Amino acid sequence: MSEVDAVVVGSGPNGLAAAVTLARAGLSVRVFEREATIGGGARTAELTLPGFHHDVCSAVHPMALASGFFRSFRLQDRIELRLPEISYGHPLDGGRAGLAYLDIERTVESLGRDGEAWRSLMAPLSEHADEVARFTGSPILRIPRHPVTVARFGLRALEQGLPTWNLRFRERVAPAMLSGVAAHSIRRMPSLATAGVALALGSYAHDRGWPIPVGGSQAIMDTMAADIRAHGGEIVTNAPVGDLEEVHGAKAVLLDTSPRALLRIAGDRLPDGYVRRVEQFRYGNAVAKVDFALSGPVPWTNTELRKAGTLHVGGNREEIAAAEAEVAAGRHSERPYVLVAQPSILDAGRAPDGGHVLWAYTHVPRGSSIDQTEAITRQIERFAPGFRDLVLASSSKTALEMEDENPNYVLGDIAGGEASLRQLIARPVLALDPWRTPARGVYLASSSTPPGPGVHGLAGWYAARSALRHEFGITTMPSLAP
Ligand SMILES: Cc1cc2nc3c(=O)[nH]c(=O)nc-3n(C[C@H](O)[C@H](O)[C@H](O)COP(=O)(O)OP(=O)(O)OC[C@H]3O[C@@H](n4cnc5c(N)ncnc54)[C@H](O)[C@@H]3O)c2cc1C
Repeated sequence: MSEVDAVVVGSGPNGLAAAVTLARAGLSVRVFEREATIGGGARTAELTLPGFHHDVCSAVHPMALASGFFRSFRLQDRIELRLPEISYGHPLDGGRAGLAYLDIERTVESLGRDGEAWRSLMAPLSEHADEVARFTGSPILRIPRHPVTVARFGLRALEQGLPTWNLRFRERVAPAMLSGVAAHSIRRMPSLATAGVALALGSYAHDRGWPIPVGGSQAIMDTMAADIRAHGGEIVTNAPVGDLEEVHGAKAVLLDTSPRALLRIAGDRLPDGYVRRVEQFRYGNAVAKVDFALSGPVPWTNTELRKAGTLHVGGNREEIAAAEAEVAAGRHSERPYVLVAQPSILDAGRAPDGGHVLWAYTHVPRGSSIDQTEAITRQIERFAPGFRDLVLASSSKTALEMEDENPNYVLGDIAGGEASLRQLIARPVLALDPWRTPARGVYLASSSTPPGPGVHGLAGWYAARSALRHEFGITTMPSLAP
């Protein structure tokens, strides 16, 4: 193969964001992907029955809408993103539910006595959701551009990150809603990190929304791949890279891999001190996933939930916190927290003849090999009796199988490393430019670098920008617009 200026190892959202940026800067770029298909954590495939298109990993994209990379790339002009009227719903026993409408006023109204408390917590953030996104998606250790929003965010994170987190509310619905979002961080709660996730994603729910791409997450990756190819880049699939020697000649190598793989691929070029620091990077709790092919929509007892793109299933705040604590202690919860997405309520093309696809995962101890189909089915059935009878087929992946499919998900940790406050800053090490490693021309570009997990492409974008500056002397960043 001919030599190129830059090589990207891995075609996840961050790998492709890096390749888009490098190709747009006029460099020759080649992406190597170990799998037969591109996209990493943003692929779509027929996992159950013919004609049922399931998102293999990510399904819902509030972070893509909020991301500076995707806004520069003008994702919304390239693919269709549909917004559910209810960003997320939270079923509770007795047919009650928390409903995060895109329009915050409808949520305020639906929360009754806690409506005003919800408004005063969320509105100051959702009204400045761009600033929240800039702050939470920024390279670390920078002076914030919007200190007032950062202060508002910080005060609220303190409130929702401490054991006194219920003080604001009188009823149980609003606290359950916040905990359902906080649990995306797959950690024991309350903590500052879980509160930060609840507030950031929660504020997008009432602003830009939690969109679902028509055609599935793969549509995002396909449009990025098309842009790379249109600018002279190449993507090679079925091409695992195990050693830097395999990609020699390139001036920059950007690894969309785990830090563990960085050490394997580039270890002999890295100083011992750096290797030791990377070895201390901790991987987090894991995920087990189940995809369902259904003969009809889920019969949620609270019919309003049939309009929600995402659902947080697991009961009230105490139940969710208990379930996450069990997982953090290395046990499988009897009544686990389940994250559910129902993309086909917005995108009928995902399933044939009035059928539906349902996407669900739950949290499990890292390294778990236990199938969660029954645990997940039971929790959904609890709030949607009759669900079980609609299941035509299902496809399950344990935590260990997640890692088999994608080595970035070490022991089933889909966040690319524990998303604790410390590790969101020191990711994988504390540095002003954490994407650039001490090995000449070698960069880490995955979600194991800031700003962490999610389909936002920011880690790849920042890594590429650092490589452009340091390896190629390019300081003016290229336009990414179509
Ligand atoms: C089940 C699940 C549900 C999720 N849900 C959401 C969601 O709804 N919304 C959201 O925003 N985020 C979600 N996420 C998180 C999101 O998918 C990830 O944070 C994101 O994909 C990380 O992107 P990445 O590019 O860093 O890595 P990945 O997407 O993991 O991509 C890494 C790529 O590199 C390849 N690779 C690794 N090693 C090598 C090698 N040595 N040689 C060649 N190729 C290699 C892999 O095969 C893979 O294609 C979910 C993740 C999972 C697993």
